[in-house]
Amino acid sequence: MKSENNVIIVGGGLAGLTCAIHLLKFGFKVTLIEKNTYPHHKVCGEYISNEVLPYLKWLDADPAQLNPTTITRLSISSATGKTINSSLPLGGFGISRFTLDNFLFEKATQNGCTIITDSVNAIEFKNDRFQIGTTKNGLLNARIVIGAYGKRSSLDQKLERGFIQKKSPWLAVKAHFKGDFPDDLVALHNFKGGYCGISKVENGDINICYLTDYQSFKTHKNISNFQKQVLYKNPHLKEIFENSVPLFDQPLTISQISFEKKEPVFNHVLMIGDTAGLIHPLCGNGMAMAIHSAKICAELTIQFLDGTISSRSILENNYKKEWNRNFKKRLAIGKLLSAIIRKEKLFAPLLNLLIKFPYVLPSIIKNTHGKPII
Ligand SMILES: Cc1cc2nc3c(=O)[nH]c(=O)nc-3n(C[C@H](O)[C@H](O)[C@H](O)COP(=O)(O)OP(=O)(O)OC[C@H]3O[C@@H](n4cnc5c(N)ncnc54)[C@H](O)[C@@H]3O)c2cc1C
Repeated sequence: MKSENNVIIVGGGLAGLTCAIHLLKFGFKVTLIEKNTYPHHKVCGEYISNEVLPYLKWLDADPAQLNPTTITRLSISSATGKTINSSLPLGGFGISRFTLDNFLFEKATQNGCTIITDSVNAIEFKNDRFQIGTTKNGLLNARIVIGAYGKRSSLDQKLERGFIQKKSPWLAVKAHFKGDFPDDLVALHNFKGGYCGISKVENGDINICYLTDYQSFKTHKNISNFQKQVLYKNPHLKEIFENSVPLFDQPLTISQISFEKKEPVFNHVLMIGDTAGLIHPLCGNGMAMAIHSAKICAELTIQFLDGTISSRSILENNYKKEWNRNFKKRLAIGKLLSAIIRKEKLFAPLLNLLIKFPYVLPSIIKNTHGKPII
């Protein structure tokens, strides 16, 4: 492969690593720049939709070898604890990001990916080439740059992306626990100002991860007070917290999470995963979307590099079109559901309706998910 055809991927989460593995499978030269070392924990509910399985198997990265839990049921409760149960139409599996990202990192490395541990601080496009600024490795050049650096980065500020100027009032907290929880269940328990997901990961640990608006959080002095005074009002959350033992010294937190609209292509960079758009976590589909967008991007990039797509503008337009066709509706439904779920006055009647007509919930779930990716 000619070296001027090289690809640089910025960010080595699920989207970046999957995209790298796909491009490597077709013999392309890929450099991936990730600011953190592997393995590491990430704030994430760690429930992943089965829609990714055929594609991961095709990439020779079948997560079955990591012994994930098999999740087939969903339970949702209102802030007062009123509950509805449903089967998950496609189902999913529970795997920690500590294990999954590291697995894909090892796969990418074995397949010949150059992985640089560094932070990208600038991306410039000039004369049909990219110049990437890094903190430790100076300037790097590439024909294609793929942005896979997650939901928010100082790079977005540097690129002057629109969403970064807007307020992003969400805060997320995640930790692993030992305790009693069914292997095959993902629970979504609401509380005033947010919602909390619970499911098990590969080693039987329980992932408890919640999203809350920062305004309601900041009046409480710390995470422990907040949980006791706000989350415990939902009896399901009180029970799980009181009967489980935390495995992290401190929970992981991230703030300024934004669900604003983003651009799948910006400054000629093809954006994948959360860098292109973040779906509300209550849908449990962000990881599948990250992996799916990586596939779409890799396929079109290959066509551009082998000359099947004749120009960069066609590549960019095709990617935007495919991205919107696959994900735009899902994001809109996720946004709507999140708005309803946060307002008890709207959510309570919806929950009653779902209890009366139980077949409606699987159909809502289907609309926030895709089909198996092949
Ligand atoms: C609270 C919460 C719960 C969630 N729960 C679920 C769930 O249960 N199921 C689900 O499917 N989805 C869930 N999601 C969504 C899911 O976590 C994301 O959609 C997924 O992580 C996206 O993967 P990614 O590769 O795009 O980004 P990431 O996994 O965030 O990877 C981005 C990578 O880029 C690196 N990076 C950033 N900036 C730079 C830079 N300048 N230079 C170099 N590297 C850089 C970062 O270190 C990181 O490793 C949840 C999200 C939140 C916020």
